Amino acid sequence: TGRLLEVDNLRVEFRTRDGVAKVINGVTYHVDAGETLAVLGESGSGKSVTAQTIMGILDTPPGFVTGGEIRFQGRDMLAMSAEERRRIRGEGIAMVFQDALSALNPVFNVGFQIGEQFRVRRGMSRADAKKRAIEMLDLVKIPNAKQRVNEYPHQFSGGMRQRVMIAMSLALDPQVLIADEPTTALDVTVQAQIMDLLAELQRERQMGLILITHDLGVVADVADRIAVMYAGRIVEEADVHELYAKPAHPYTIGLLESIPRIDEKGQQLRTIRGLPPSLLKIPSGCPFHPRCPMAQPVCVEKVPPLLQLGPTRASACHFAEELVSRD
Ligand code: SF4
Ligand code: MG
Repeated sequence: TGRLLEVDNLRVEFRTRDGVAKVINGVTYHVDAGETLAVLGESGSGKSVTAQTIMGILDTPPGFVTGGEIRFQGRDMLAMSAEERRRIRGEGIAMVFQDALSALNPVFNVGFQIGEQFRVRRGMSRADAKKRAIEMLDLVKIPNAKQRVNEYPHQFSGGMRQRVMIAMSLALDPQVLIADEPTTALDVTVQAQIMDLLAELQRERQMGLILITHDLGVVADVADRIAVMYAGRIVEEADVHELYAKPAHPYTIGLLESIPRIDEKGQQLRTIRGLPPSLLKIPSGCPFHPRCPMAQPVCVEKVPPLLQLGPTRASACHFAEELVSRD
């Protein structure tokens, strides 16, 4: 099958001075070749930490994997040698970060930074690596790539800089690309252009793409499936159309209601009441219960398991079946 990457019941803790923060509490998701999974959640939901754990760049300490597996092409990466993991990084799985300016090195031109991977990992000469860097800039549609390859990160606009980051991440032709809030720092028009570019590259290369975002509106047009995270858990997973048509979790309903819509301009945006919980003290039962308009006594007592509701959807709410069967 085309199953490329599987996160299976992953658990991560941060041991801080204030106590143990349970940051990832049994996260399971996968991405196949040729599909786009959006991982959606507020900040602190664990979506970035999951990605950092996949990439092997979790801050250790204080971050510790306390359970689960991360399988790339069926093999558990957490059980691999550091050398094997390093090889997968870049060639198997690559990542685009939110803040291109701090991810790029200000003292080297972008051609050198893209070319570095060809030199270090492919043993190319400087001249060949630069040629390949120009091709990569062309690939991500940066005009005048031949000139711009010699320029430094600060000479690029935010959007162009994010394209450079994407070029860099694709240099070793990865099978899975993880993009963590790749457009958050950009204005709306540029956001859409970067999303279109990612979607196009994903299609052409038949990559598995994981888009991490707090903004459902940004990923709606490009995602095939959506996994919604809350307090270090997946609370709903569904095909994108199903999720929009009939969300099966009150948290997803809240997220959908808080998407700004053009035709409702000027209207007060609805937001989910309250704040995400402290991961040092996750609420009992359903971790969403203090904010949930549908909460019942059972929600305070019992953790709702992530239940499969159909072939392409699952929800972790005691009342999920009622939600999907409503008109
Ligand atoms: Fe709300 Fe209860 Fe469902 Fe949690 S389990 S989302 S508190 S209704
Ligand atoms: Mg984040």
